[in-house]
Amino acid sequence: MRNLSPFIVSVILLLNTLSNALADTERARVYPDNLTPVRVQLKWLHQFQFAGFYAAIEQGYFRREGLAVELIEGSPTINPSLEVAQGRAEFGVGNSSLIIDYNNGLPLVAVAAIFQQSPFVIIARRDPALMTVRDLEGHTLMKEAHSEELTAYLRLAGVDLDQVELVDHTGDITDLKQDDPSGIDATSAYLSSEPFDAVEHQVPYRLFSPREIGINFYGDTLFTSKTLAETEPQTVDAMRRALIDGWLYAQTHQDELVNLIHRAYQPSRDPNWLALEATVTLNLLNSDIVEPGYMNPQRWRHIADKFVAAGLLAADYRLEGFLFEPDHPVPKWLYQALAAGILVITVVILVAIYIANLNSRLKYSIRCLNQRTRELESANRKLYQLSTKDKLTGLANRRSFDMLIDAETARAQRSNQPLSLLLIDVDHFKGYNDQHGHQKGDQCLAAIASVLKDSARRAGDLAARYGGEEFVIVAPNLDATQAQHLADGICQQVAALSRVHPASPHQVVTVSIGISYSAPGAPLNSHALIEQADQALYRAKSAGRNRSVLYRDSGQTDPEQTARKDSPA
Ligand code: GH3
Ligand code: MG
Ligand code: MG
Repeated sequence: MRNLSPFIVSVILLLNTLSNALADTERARVYPDNLTPVRVQLKWLHQFQFAGFYAAIEQGYFRREGLAVELIEGSPTINPSLEVAQGRAEFGVGNSSLIIDYNNGLPLVAVAAIFQQSPFVIIARRDPALMTVRDLEGHTLMKEAHSEELTAYLRLAGVDLDQVELVDHTGDITDLKQDDPSGIDATSAYLSSEPFDAVEHQVPYRLFSPREIGINFYGDTLFTSKTLAETEPQTVDAMRRALIDGWLYAQTHQDELVNLIHRAYQPSRDPNWLALEATVTLNLLNSDIVEPGYMNPQRWRHIADKFVAAGLLAADYRLEGFLFEPDHPVPKWLYQALAAGILVITVVILVAIYIANLNSRLKYSIRCLNQRTRELESANRKLYQLSTKDKLTGLANRRSFDMLIDAETARAQRSNQPLSLLLIDVDHFKGYNDQHGHQKGDQCLAAIASVLKDSARRAGDLAARYGGEEFVIVAPNLDATQAQHLADGICQQVAALSRVHPASPHQVVTVSIGISYSAPGAPLNSHALIEQADQALYRAKSAGRNRSVLYRDSGQTDPEQTARKDSPA
């Protein structure tokens, strides 16, 4: 194996791929009942060495794992590594030289080290010439294939292998017979079996063990192909679990297994022989220290280093990818924790969405509310204007005037100030309407209102529509002369509007104004103030219109005033 050329390895890999494909078809055809068929290439004849497999079959551990296992018996000429690499078996039982096969390019993966100690030993004829392992020089050694471990032992023990005559292994301990001069001097052997053969056949022997020089390798190791480990790790894991359970069972049911092996697998073997093998084999498991199948990468490195030291492995060997990493099932609690976590996150997200939704609805409501507030404020302003302003003229309406006049008279009284009130009536307006129509009449009223608005522009002045074609101006802090001056100005400006009015003696639209005046310290109430202005207006009308008349305390209007403005402006 060590000297396999890359070409041969490539051919092996190709055959491996092809036979794997064929084997898959075969496996599917033979086992239709959901069980995965696997073949295991044992490294030797059926014996207690493989007790874990028999126990797992008998106890249904393989079936439990969904596996239908077929055990293929080994022989000195069968190399399990090649059987698995070339696809004739899915699993094999090998020894520590698997690491050498792996580094020589065979796509193998170690799955479980069953024997924590290697059973490999050398059995030599009991002969004074063969006292130590180095005495094998100059003698014959029947060495089985794939026992690189023993090669390492011999080399590291200082044996010159060129001086040892190596012969093929026959598996027959009697080849060691003392009395045959052409007999074999020593043989590779398993500590758990050949010594009993020697005893049985009365062959005196001496044991040479690698452990004498500190070589302590793994023994039987379950391995599989790289392909299976990669494509069906669950199958490999299932195999491993069932086999470990099988070995645990075998440990506690030694006699039962001995009988089973004798009965079902190796009837030619004496049960007593098998019982001895069982005792030694179970010791190799080291089960008091580790669980069967346990593999330590550091120990594999140590083994590889020994092979390197013996010149059987290159110093830059690879361990990566050689050890199967069990596909540990995810524990149930992890799923539950994950589900709980997802649930919590979902709830948090839903709550966040709900809050965000609520927020945006709240914002929308606030926007709507602000909009409604603005609309309401605007409507209120309009309503206020409607309720306080006259629609036609834009002056304060009668309601505003009524509300204000009392407050104004009271304020004038409080502050000891004069207050004037002008009552303005359009002259012959009925006739204007009749002549020009109501619409023109409205326009005329609006024009007169503009004159009034301009005239009453001091702070505190109020011009209002009193009703129909009558208007009123409240002018605080204005004495009688100033009030008359204001009224005269209004008369002139209205006439100057030159609204043609043929039915009027003045030919244009004019106004008459009655003025009442409340002097500081002699305050009038609003009612009296209006009443007096009305009386003065009446006199202005009587006197010929287009004029203003100031009401006098005597009840007489000013004659000078009534005489004024008799002619058109
Ligand atoms: P006088 O000089 O005596 O005041 O004569 P006059 O025609 O103005 O008096 P009268 O009180 O008889 O008539 C008032 C007229 O004012 C009646 C009405 O046609 C007119 N009038 C009142 N309010 C409005 C209005 O809002 N629009 C229009 N176009 N006319 C109005
Ligand atoms: Mg009138
Ligand atoms: Mg009038």
